[in-house]
Amino acid sequence: MGQRWALRVARAYDGERFRRDGATVVVDGDRIAGVEPAAFSPPGDVPVTDLDGTLLPGLVDCHVHLVAAGAFPGAQGSLEWAGTADPASVDLVVTAALEDHVAAGVTTVRDLGDAGFRVLAHRGRHPERLPRVVAAGPPLTTPAGHCHFLGGAVDPDDPAALDRAVADRVERGVDLVKVMASGGFLTPGSDQLGAQFEVAPLRHLVDAAHTAGLRVVAHTHSVTGAEVALDAGVDGLEHFTCLAPGGVHAPAELLDRVASAGVTVDPTLGHDAARFPPVSQMPPHVLEMLARIGITDRDAHFAQVARGSLRLREHGVRVVSGLDAGAMPAKPHGHLWRSVAALVEGGWPVDEALATATSAAADDCGVDAGRLAAGRLADLLVVDGDVATDVAALGRPVAVWLGGVAVGT
Ligand SMILES: [Zn+2]
Repeated sequence: MGQRWALRVARAYDGERFRRDGATVVVDGDRIAGVEPAAFSPPGDVPVTDLDGTLLPGLVDCHVHLVAAGAFPGAQGSLEWAGTADPASVDLVVTAALEDHVAAGVTTVRDLGDAGFRVLAHRGRHPERLPRVVAAGPPLTTPAGHCHFLGGAVDPDDPAALDRAVADRVERGVDLVKVMASGGFLTPGSDQLGAQFEVAPLRHLVDAAHTAGLRVVAHTHSVTGAEVALDAGVDGLEHFTCLAPGGVHAPAELLDRVASAGVTVDPTLGHDAARFPPVSQMPPHVLEMLARIGITDRDAHFAQVARGSLRLREHGVRVVSGLDAGAMPAKPHGHLWRSVAALVEGGWPVDEALATATSAAADDCGVDAGRLAAGRLADLLVVDGDVATDVAALGRPVAVWLGGVAVGT
C-alpha cells in the first residue's frame, strides 16, 4: 500500500455522469482506492485536500502531434519542420507540448503524427510530471501523400514494402498504427476529396497490424476515404469530415455502417477562432479545395460541422475526442476542452461530451484511466467552476494529479 490521501470537491464528474453528491476520492499510491460522496469523512489518518470547482478524471486527448508546436505549415515548429529538424530540437518541442497538456489537465495523449519515431522515446520518461503517451509513430501514407514529410510513405503497389512498414513499427514498439486514407489540408497536392489507398493495399496494412496485435486508425476527410477505410477493416476514423464534391455530409447509411462495425470516430472538433485565419487568407491549394466543396464562410462551416457531430450520437457511433493539437496555430496543445465544448455547441449533453474526452477516450487508448473509480489510475483534474452548466470551465484548470502525484499548473 502506498500513502493514502483524499481529495474532496463538492462538484464531480466520474467519467460517465455528474455525481449529485460531489466526491471524496481516496488515493492510494498511483491508484484511486475509493470514491465516496463529498460529505464522506475518511479515517483521521488520511489527509484531505478540499478544493472548489469541479473534479474530473484527467483528460485524454486522442489526437495530438507532439513533434509540432502548432506553427503554420513550413514554419519552425510546424509538422513539415518536424520532418527535417534535428532530433534534439524535436525533443524540445515534444517536451514543451507535453508540459502544455498536463498543465491543462490532459493527463494522457495519443500521438498520431510523429516524425522519425521521436515521440516513442518520451513514453514513460517522466511519469510523475508529464502525461502518459500512446504513440503511433509516423503515419503511413502514399508517396507524396498527406504528411509524407513525416517519413511514413509506402508504395501501395509493393506488398513487401507494406509488410516492412508495419514490421518496422512493431519492432519499435508502437502502440497503434495510423494511416492516411485521404489527403489533408496541410499537404498541397494531396486530395482531401479522394482516397489515397485502394482497398486491397489498405487491407494488407490493416491485416498485418492486426496480426501483430495493433489497432489501426485512419485519417480521412472524404466520404470516399472513409468507405475505403471501412472496407479495409480499420478500427478508428480520425476527422471523419465527410467532404464530398458540393458539400460536407455524412450519409445516414455510412453512419449506420460505422456504428455497426464498432469503429470509433474522433471528429477532431474544436479550435481557437482567434488563431484561425479567415477563408480569404488560406493558401491557394486550400482555397481551391474549399471552392470545390462550396465552403465560403469559415464560421458557418464550423457551426455546421458541430451540428453534424450530433448525428454521430444519433446513429450510435462510438465517439472520442482529440483536438489535433499541434497541427496548426488554432489547435494549441492542451486545448482539448475546445473539442468537448464543440460537441456541446453541436447539441451533445455535457456528460456525454465529457465522456468522449475521459472514459471513452481512455478505453480507446487502452489506458487504465479516464474514470473516478476504485482501481483506476489517480489521474485527476479540478477546474474552476461548474462544468455541468459552463463547459468552458473545463479550460480553467486549478489542480492536476498524475498517478496520484500533484503536478504544477
Ligand atoms: Zn492530425
